[in-house]
Amino acid sequence: MSAGIGSATARIEIDLGAFRHNVQQLSQLVAPARTMLAVKANAYGHGLVPLARAALESGADSLAVLEVPTGLALRTAGVTAPLFAWLHGVSTDFAAAIEADIELGVSAQWQLDAIVAAAGEKPARVHLKVDTGLNRNGASAAEWPGLVRSALAAETSGAVVVAAIWSHLADASPEDDADALARFREAVAVAASLGCHPPLLHLAASSAGIRMPEARLDLVRFGIAAYGISPFDDHSGRDLGLRPVMALRAPVVSLEDGVATIAVGSGDGVQVPAIGSAEVGIWGKRHPILSMTIDSITIDVAHSMVAIGDEVTLFGPGSDGAPTAEEWAAWGDTIGDEIVARASERLPRVYLET
Ligand SMILES: *Cc1c(COP(=O)(O)O)cnc(C)c1O
Repeated sequence: MSAGIGSATARIEIDLGAFRHNVQQLSQLVAPARTMLAVKANAYGHGLVPLARAALESGADSLAVLEVPTGLALRTAGVTAPLFAWLHGVSTDFAAAIEADIELGVSAQWQLDAIVAAAGEKPARVHLKVDTGLNRNGASAAEWPGLVRSALAAETSGAVVVAAIWSHLADASPEDDADALARFREAVAVAASLGCHPPLLHLAASSAGIRMPEARLDLVRFGIAAYGISPFDDHSGRDLGLRPVMALRAPVVSLEDGVATIAVGSGDGVQVPAIGSAEVGIWGKRHPILSMTIDSITIDVAHSMVAIGDEVTLFGPGSDGAPTAEEWAAWGDTIGDEIVARASERLPRVYLET
């Protein structure tokens, strides 16, 4: 697709300066609790390795990778910080994970058994997960004492080290999160009564990490907030002092009768917006979207001086007058995570330091 004279092509800009700012803010907010940064789903679409490195340089001391292969990819890229993976399947290569010092979430007996079977000379560092009632994943209150006893036995045999007890909040409401915290404390007490006293307790992600200090415990697993998107409906990222990290920009490639076209569309992971409310920014001014196809978007630019090659910002930092990913999320009746994480791998990512 030919872009206009003097313009760049469609691209995703990743502002590493904004990301560093956010990680610093968040890690300072929760200190002395430590910050684990979630880089799952290709760092929420921003790019795994550059974001992992920037997080570790800016206040995070560990990374949450979801699955073992992502952890192995980070090791291959030379990342030596603690890594945590917790979503396992029957084919997960636990031996490779242990060898690569990837810490492993354990939410069921079969996982512990598989990890023990895979452990060689080096013990596996495991984080035992209890279900705090609002989540599908983790040992139930009934299963919990059995899982703790098995883990302690595996520790005695040298196969594992119980590094942590953890859970995940549903972020449904402050009341639900408070109930979940109480259930978490009960599970920690049950483990202690069985002789299990791991040095690390963790529960909160972005939402509780920000608004629920009592849930920060020893470590907060920050995800979306670090990418500059608010976990709350009633506060924007900007309200929270966060800066959006991703911008999606494309040049005007054709112009006819007050209608400009850009060559990105739903095939690039741009969510079909609510035509009528969705807008883009050009030269700091908002213009409504008229239509979208798999590879193009048309924009109403009647009565303005827009030219071929001018830069269109679909979403970005917000400071330039163009919409933010949070606004796109509101127009599409979805969450900001979806807007940034779906942005296509096909679009080139340009990393900036501001
Ligand atoms: C995704 C995820 C996080 C980060 O969640 P955010 O709401 O994006 O901050 C933390 N912990 C677990 C287990 C997760 O899956």
